Amino acid sequence: MKKRVLLLGCTGSIGQNTLEVLAGLGHRCEVVGLAAGSRWQRLAQQARYWNPQAVAISDVQAADPLRSAVGGGVRVLAGPDAPVELVDSVACDCVVSAVVGAAGLPATLRAVELGRQVALANKETLVIAGGLIAPLARRTGASLIPIDSEHSAVFQALQAGKRAEVKRIYLTASGGPFRTWAAERIAAATLEDALNHPTWDMGPKVTIDSATMMNKALEIIEARWLFDLPPERIDVLVHPESVVHSLVEFCDGSMIAQLGSPDMRTPIQYALTYPDRLPCPSEPLDLSAHRRLHFEPPDPEKFPALRLGHETARRGGTAGAVLNAANESAVELFRAGEIRFPEIVQVTEQALGRHSFLADPSLQDLLAADRWARNEVVGCTTC
Ligand code: MG
Repeated sequence: MKKRVLLLGCTGSIGQNTLEVLAGLGHRCEVVGLAAGSRWQRLAQQARYWNPQAVAISDVQAADPLRSAVGGGVRVLAGPDAPVELVDSVACDCVVSAVVGAAGLPATLRAVELGRQVALANKETLVIAGGLIAPLARRTGASLIPIDSEHSAVFQALQAGKRAEVKRIYLTASGGPFRTWAAERIAAATLEDALNHPTWDMGPKVTIDSATMMNKALEIIEARWLFDLPPERIDVLVHPESVVHSLVEFCDGSMIAQLGSPDMRTPIQYALTYPDRLPCPSEPLDLSAHRRLHFEPPDPEKFPALRLGHETARRGGTAGAVLNAANESAVELFRAGEIRFPEIVQVTEQALGRHSFLADPSLQDLLAADRWARNEVVGCTTC
């Protein structure tokens, strides 16, 4: 029987890569549901090709044009709750969560409640609500398989030993476009500079997060919940070539790494075929062409986001929701030209300092903290 896959965030960068991988896995996977935010033309195109049982579009305005574009054979759900309804109403074996940002949380949470296997590219789910989701997944039997390249690498390296034998993990970071820039030059960085990533081709939000290294801060928190590790056992290692995707150090001093081309199709496919490995369309890695691989500790002065990542992972509670939401808001302000590049992290840290911390929040508390942080960031920069 084929694995029935439901894809949330099908029109984004990870979503499109997932469909490309699935096109090569036609003998073992089928697409039963697709969800997008607002890009209805692309969703309609995908629906005509994949013929899923149902599609969901969050933007209500797009419902009518989408219905006429997909024709009668595919059920169309529309509105902010449509992705959750899709997960509820379409039986599947695996939910791929590839929505960018906090918008991915409700439908991913529902998939975990239903005990589904969740292939997780949406790191925000764990950054915001890891304290709820990790124990929930243990109760419902939902398995979380990472797609984020670093976490996929750790997940793969962990197969080499027992969990109790793990000493620490190292998340690698390319260092982004500003790794070699002086702090003064970073302070004057433009949007174009920040979008110019040296090794990975990703969507704009993730690319800017990579330039501030907030991406790695979020990944520290994600790793804390995925692998149930205290933050002091999660290190960041700058590795500009983006060939070693992360490492696990075991108690005997052995370090196991996963290497590959910087191509998201590899971790996407591993999540879809785990525990099997199959040929993948990603570029093969030629280590002799690289010859030299470099590693260096990150510069905490130039990239203060990393400290925020460790602090937030230690605090837990509502801190992750606030960090994530404040950063999302700040990135939007930077893209709109309202704040300068270093202010992305500054206003995020200010929001963290001002928020009313709750140690044991409910989902409602987390969503409230998220809303508060967004308003706070917009308010503090317009006054
Ligand atoms: Mg990553």
